Amino acid sequence: MKIVVCIKEVFNSDDVKIDKKTKNIDRRGAELFINPYDLNAVELALELKEKFGAETYAITMGIPSAESSLRECLAMGIDKGILLTDRALAGSDTIATSLALTEAIRKYVPDCDLILCGKHAIDAETSIVGPAIAERLGIAQLTYVDELVSIEAGKVIVKKAAENGDLEVEAKLPAMLSVTGEVNKPRYMDLKNIRVAVSSEIEVVDIAKLNLSAEDVGVPGSPTVVGEMHMVERAAGACRMLSGSTVDIARKIAELAKAAK
Ligand SMILES: Cc1cc2nc3c(=O)[nH]c(=O)nc-3n(C[C@H](O)[C@H](O)[C@H](O)COP(=O)(O)OP(=O)(O)OC[C@H]3O[C@@H](n4cnc5c(N)ncnc54)[C@H](O)[C@@H]3O)c2cc1C
Repeated sequence: MKIVVCIKEVFNSDDVKIDKKTKNIDRRGAELFINPYDLNAVELALELKEKFGAETYAITMGIPSAESSLRECLAMGIDKGILLTDRALAGSDTIATSLALTEAIRKYVPDCDLILCGKHAIDAETSIVGPAIAERLGIAQLTYVDELVSIEAGKVIVKKAAENGDLEVEAKLPAMLSVTGEVNKPRYMDLKNIRVAVSSEIEVVDIAKLNLSAEDVGVPGSPTVVGEMHMVERAAGACRMLSGSTVDIARKIAELAKAAK
C-alpha cells in the first residue's frame, strides 16, 4: 500500500496583513507551521504504515523553506518527502495548486492507493484542494472523515458526522480522504526518526519536472479573482447569553438578527 499525505504550510491569520492595492496576503514575518488537520492526515498514514507496512510520502507545494515541514513529517515517521517549489507557482489558486500536486503524485507515486489531506487549510479554508486532486485523478473522494473504520479488499470504509448522527461511507481504492481533527491525535516527533529526518534526501521538484509551463500555474493558471478583502473587525457590544430550549434559542436569534438589520 502506498499513501501520499498532502501537507500545507499555513500562517496564523493574526500575523498577516492584506495589501490593499494587490489584494494579496502579505505573509512577511508570519510564522509558518503545518496545517493542524494535515498532521491528523500524517498520523493516519503512520497508523496504516504500522498496520499494513504501507510506504508513506508527504508532499507539499510551497516556498523552499517548507522543506523543514517535510522533515518534521519524516521525524514523525513518514518515509519520503517531496517538495514542489518554483517561482512560477507563486500566486496559485486552488485550481493551479491542485494541478501541480496532481502532476507530482502522477509522476512520483503513480500507483498510490490513498491520498490523505486535511479537511481544510486554516488560512484560506476553501476545502477545495483535496477534492480537486481526486477529481483530476478520477478517483473517489471521502471528505470530512472523522474515523477510518476499515481498509481491506480494495475498499475503504469511513465514518463522518451527518445531521442525524454518524454516517458510514465506503469507496473503492484508490481514494482521497480529507480528515478532521476527530480522526486521531497526532504523535510527536520521534528522537530516532529525527536523526534520520535530518539527513534524508527530499525530492525537490520544479514545474519543468512535471511537464508544466508557467502558463499552467501561478497567476496565469489561476482563474480565481479576489474581488474584495476585508479584515473582520471585532463587533463592539457586550455578550448576551440566551437560555431555553434549542428551538427557543433559535427563535430568539432569528428575532435579534431581524431587529439588527
Ligand atoms: C481570497 C483568497 C486570496 C488568496 N490570496 C493568496 C495570495 O495572495 N497568495 C497566496 O500564496 N495564496 C493566496 N491564497 C491561497 C491559495 O489560493 C490557497 O492557499 C491554495 O490554493 C490552497 O487552498 P486552501 O488553502 O484553501 O486549501 P484547502 O483546499 O482548504 O486545503 C485542503 C487540504 O489540501 C491540501 N493542500 C492545500 N494546499 C496545499 C499545498 N500547497 N501543498 C500541499 N497540500 C496542500 C492539504 O492537505 C489541506 O489540508 C488565497 C486564497 C483565497 C481564498
